[in-house]
Amino acid sequence: MNTPVNVIPFVDLKFQHQPIQLKLEQAIHTVIQQGDYVLGQALSEFEQSFATACGVSHGVGVACGTDAIALGLQACGIGAGDEVILPANTFVATLIGVLRSGATPVFVDCDPDTALIDLNAAERAITGKTRAILPVHLYGQMVSPHHLLDLATNYGLLIFEDAAQAHLAQRDGYRAGSVGTAAAFSFYPSKNLGAFGDGGLLATNEAIISETMRSLRNYGAPRKYYHTDCGINSRLDTLQAAVLNVKLPYLMAWNRDRYHIAQQYDRLLKPLEPFGIVPIQNHSGDGHVYHLYVVRVTADCLIGRDELQTELAAASIQTGIHYPIPCHLQPAFQQMGYHAGDFPHAETLCQEVLSLPMYPGLSEAHIAYVVSTIETLLGSSIPSIADVPVSCSSLVVG
Ligand SMILES: *Cc1c(COP(=O)(O)O)cnc(C)c1O
Repeated sequence: MNTPVNVIPFVDLKFQHQPIQLKLEQAIHTVIQQGDYVLGQALSEFEQSFATACGVSHGVGVACGTDAIALGLQACGIGAGDEVILPANTFVATLIGVLRSGATPVFVDCDPDTALIDLNAAERAITGKTRAILPVHLYGQMVSPHHLLDLATNYGLLIFEDAAQAHLAQRDGYRAGSVGTAAAFSFYPSKNLGAFGDGGLLATNEAIISETMRSLRNYGAPRKYYHTDCGINSRLDTLQAAVLNVKLPYLMAWNRDRYHIAQQYDRLLKPLEPFGIVPIQNHSGDGHVYHLYVVRVTADCLIGRDELQTELAAASIQTGIHYPIPCHLQPAFQQMGYHAGDFPHAETLCQEVLSLPMYPGLSEAHIAYVVSTIETLLGSSIPSIADVPVSCSSLVVG
């Protein structure tokens, strides 16, 4: 993950890891000495601490976030014949998780300003077979808990949260993972809380779901060599849990840093809004944990999104697109019968979104450089917004 000096990477994990390197090495060393590599002590410790941090009673570690969705839905009793409502604009793992549970995914469109699932559209998609709604707390912002709970209560639905991008996010007094019956988290390295590899967790308040999940992740065996379900092998490694135990106490501060970075982007980008650079809206204040900082490059912009991304790359600024193709138009899922035009907001967002560099440790100078580069690329007619002249050569990242 070495990036040359002067390049502003999209994500840089060394700001997280360097200050705690010794603690990380000690934690790993302890696991090596104890030898409890699978379902070991560090795992149960992490499961309890992370559940507590989310405000729920149980955490069950699994191999990745996708397994947390697939097995989690199964543990909630959802499967073949059941419909699960989810947004069309999410990472494909959300969809794959639902399909693996055996349930039928039903897509709905999103709100164009927040990119979050449109709950009015979700309400219209409810049928006699709908069992659950699966909100994705996309980019680190929670879907409105009150609106979700109203919908779930009125229609007798279960809420299953995809919180893979929203560790410790908050909205209206609720924490991500504590709104629904169960919630899936991912610890992929670049997530707000990341392992040194893959990892995931199911959070729930319900003891029975937690017990079923423990069995499902361990070949469907509630006790050794006694199999009540056809489960799989999907456990969060003790080593990864040990790493996550070291990192968890810093998560709040890292999230706060992300929020402050987002505020700086918001402030500096404001004058560019009439020129077609429009940040995704934040409706949850400092409860937004900004897994990603995403702008829309709208039709008002003189240059297209892809061209802007290419030009930024030429100026040594790495960006991302989350996501370029909505789930319902992915080649693998054409048999589901959806078509272009079914979810206009999700489809337009895929054309417009651009994720700017975002990670704890990203400096003010870098943020200003990113914005002033965009400003320059848009044309010279825009009044200057960054008074601090930051030249690329003065930026030392490596
Ligand atoms: C990362 C992610 C997942 C899947 O997590 P993995 O650990 O990569 O399997 C699911 N949903 C969303 C929204 C994600 O961002």
